[in-house]
Amino acid sequence: MLSYNDIYGQDNIKNYLKMIKQKNKIMHAYIINEEKGMGAQELAKVWAAHLLCKNDLNECCKKCHSCIQMKADLHPDFIFISPYKKNSIGVDDIRESINSTLNIMPYMGGYKIYVIKDAHKMTVQAQNALLKTIEEPPEYVIIILLCTNMDMLLETIKSRCIKLRLLPQAEDAIKKNLIKSGVSEDKAAMYAAYARGNIGTAQRLYEDEDFRNVFFENIEILESIGWGENGALTKAMEIIKNRKDNFNDFIEFCRIWYRDVLIVKKINIREMLIFKKQYTSIKAFADNLKYSDLYRIFNAFDRAYDRLVANVNPDIIVHTLLLELKTRLRRIYD
Ligand SMILES: [Zn+2]
Repeated sequence: MLSYNDIYGQDNIKNYLKMIKQKNKIMHAYIINEEKGMGAQELAKVWAAHLLCKNDLNECCKKCHSCIQMKADLHPDFIFISPYKKNSIGVDDIRESINSTLNIMPYMGGYKIYVIKDAHKMTVQAQNALLKTIEEPPEYVIIILLCTNMDMLLETIKSRCIKLRLLPQAEDAIKKNLIKSGVSEDKAAMYAAYARGNIGTAQRLYEDEDFRNVFFENIEILESIGWGENGALTKAMEIIKNRKDNFNDFIEFCRIWYRDVLIVKKINIREMLIFKKQYTSIKAFADNLKYSDLYRIFNAFDRAYDRLVANVNPDIIVHTLLLELKTRLRRIYD
């Protein structure tokens, strides 16, 4: 069972949540906005456990009946809603999980807490259904919306919620944290830079072997295409096709890589790069690309995103994108 200390950084929000619990100043609806991986879900759970705990401590006691139920994911007054495999949360989901259970008093006599993960994926109808609940909830109800894009929520919802925002962490702090976990200094620097303040991304690079492999594969793909190695494009396509729905991440990865190329072209400060170790390649690409090429490349990323959203076949999108990169870089090896 997690405690506040297991959530990295975010001290202001943690202290605020503890304080309002202590002072009994809890409102009915909260939004916790984050960049994916910063720990909003974990934080919501820790806070919920704290609110539901039968002992009045600085965080949940982990021993009382309520805490034991939370630990086993069986607490009847803690309701977790997420899109699961679907792309959106529909009006029926809200009616079924929230509106129809709302008036049942909490089994354990305290609060009844609803957490909606990926709340930005609620359809407009779903949000409108939720709105009524947020406007006049029963005394014991707390609703926590977790989202990564607050703009997708209706103004009417937002105005009725207390809005909390998880903040990016300093790169250096993330790096030190990784080194403490046993990552070599070189890699820690690279992961921390790539994570750009998102501790979740940095930790995944360290802990999740598949995620890490994809990271290094991506570097290889961009280097081999950049240098015009024989069959690089075909090989890259094979690798990417075998991944499950990582296209978005791949495009984002390319964008970060070319951001480094642009930095080298403009000011050439190696220390500012995420991919410092790949400086030789990045410098060669920067020297061989004109600004107009880079402009086209960044445009190609935008187009790839748009097509992905428009449900164009991802294989075609990635192929077109890599071909564009290959074409722009041709001068290096022709
Ligand atoms: Zn407890």
